[in-house]
Amino acid sequence: MNPEDLQTARDLVRSARHVVVFTGAGMSAESGIPTFRDPGGVWDQFPPERFATVSGLTSVYRREPDELRRFLYVGMHSLLQAEPNAGHLAIAQLAGATPVTVVTQNIDGLHQRAGSTVVHELHGSMFELYCTQCNRGQRASVDQLRNMVDRLADPLPATAARRRILRILHPIIPKCAHCRGRVRPTVVLFEEMLPPRAWNPAEQAASDCDLMIVVGTSATVHPAALLPELARRVGARIILVNKDPDMRPRGGDIAFTAGAAIALPELIKAD
Ligand code: NAD
Repeated sequence: MNPEDLQTARDLVRSARHVVVFTGAGMSAESGIPTFRDPGGVWDQFPPERFATVSGLTSVYRREPDELRRFLYVGMHSLLQAEPNAGHLAIAQLAGATPVTVVTQNIDGLHQRAGSTVVHELHGSMFELYCTQCNRGQRASVDQLRNMVDRLADPLPATAARRRILRILHPIIPKCAHCRGRVRPTVVLFEEMLPPRAWNPAEQAASDCDLMIVVGTSATVHPAALLPELARRVGARIILVNKDPDMRPRGGDIAFTAGAAIALPELIKAD
């Protein structure tokens, strides 16, 4: 990290009135959760058109239930093993000194587990479920999901595979206790709207902050990727933290080519 930029960034962090930390999959990479778009990432094995849309997932379930099992196993196994890294902890610590709003595209719950209290999950959460009929919410516990993932480890027998997978997935797709409607995780799939209860306060925070720290996102998923632009429009400074040396900062941005777990603790250090 360039020492001059680091000094400027620390001064910005120290003097900020309201910091928004906007995070993507790279935030949790050092916790062991693969990103989607990096080489070797999730999309290399499981193309999004088949595994990140309702119609794609429905078709995989009907035609290749064991592929659905493998996708869920691979995707959820790392997510459930992960612990918050030094970057998540640094963000939570910063909130002790300055008002901090975390806006995340991640579904892993690691910001909250690190101690951040104001967290808007733009793409939902693996641990929160809702009824598609009456909209009532409920939670799935880490233990319930771990148990489910253990049962997804082995290939499904060719016969009765679909029925078998539905039974295994029961913790994330139970029937609603109130209306017997279909329950599903709040995770936002491609082509779905972002939940207003996360998007509205995120948009408001971006339009109110004087510093936005953008961590580990390729900023390609819209509308989430618009948030840094909203912050720039109100005159906020932007600090980018990303492992990609090809990220393109705008004039006035400060960019660090570094991992989140290294860069964020450095940024909040008193010099
Ligand atoms: P992305 O995969 O498109 O981009 C990841 C970015 O992180 C890249 O720019 C990469 O250079 C950077 N990166 C990789 N390792 C890093 C590190 N250690 N430190 C800092 N930066 C690092 O991810 P995205 O922009 O978040 O968009 C993908 C979507 O996939 C999101 O909407 C998110 O919901 C979902 N997703 C979530 C998780 C999770 O919950 N942990 C994991 C994968 C994907």
